[in-house]
Amino acid sequence: MLSLNKPFYTALLVEFTAFLIIRRFIQYKLIQEKQKATLKSSPLDKALVIMNSIALFGGTLVYLAKPHWLSWATWPLPTWARWGGVALGGLGIAGFLWVHWALGKNWSAWLEIKANQNLVTTGPYQKIRHPMYTTIFLIYFGWALLTANWFLALTWIGPFALLTATRVKQEETMMLETFGETYSSYMQKTTRFLPKLNFIKTEQKKSGP
Ligand code: SAH
Repeated sequence: MLSLNKPFYTALLVEFTAFLIIRRFIQYKLIQEKQKATLKSSPLDKALVIMNSIALFGGTLVYLAKPHWLSWATWPLPTWARWGGVALGGLGIAGFLWVHWALGKNWSAWLEIKANQNLVTTGPYQKIRHPMYTTIFLIYFGWALLTANWFLALTWIGPFALLTATRVKQEETMMLETFGETYSSYMQKTTRFLPKLNFIKTEQKKSGP
């Protein structure tokens, strides 16, 4: 059992470390920049951000330190599904890096507007408004599969789903207040989390009269 788990344990260790390195590197760069910012997070948003960090670190570190503590919540997933989880997690991490790269100094854990905030509409932001949330969901979903543990799945995905559901509207209102018409026309050209499947439209047009 343990030998079967070992590659998945290692995969989580590698992907979690990559996730932390990307975040830490961005935060380090931001500390060096030290921009003034107007905080727009509500008390609920702040509480949920903190709860998310506790859930992410708590769940992952318990699994990495004492995996057998969580064995009561094992989910009988086939090995191929767990490898699928490793691949989804890796894809999510690559996407997360791309999104952070595109968002640059505009990133913040809280909802805030910095003194020289720009509106990013390129790269992953060209088609969707919240690609970072999409990639984090993808990472957590991948990890849920690779660990094959439903308790960890709930610990990672539950608080993040709650945070996303409560903050997206607040975030868009804040962006509209700051960037006005530019953001509202950007909204019309984009979707929230998943890109529109344009080929479906094209197919429909083609089959029309
Ligand atoms: N919701 C985005 C960004 C998450 S980080 C995503 O999922 O990719 C949160 C911070 O990003 C907010 O404080 C906001 O100021 C900033 N932000 C959100 N969308 C942005 C955009 N298109 N351009 C620049 N900054 C943005």
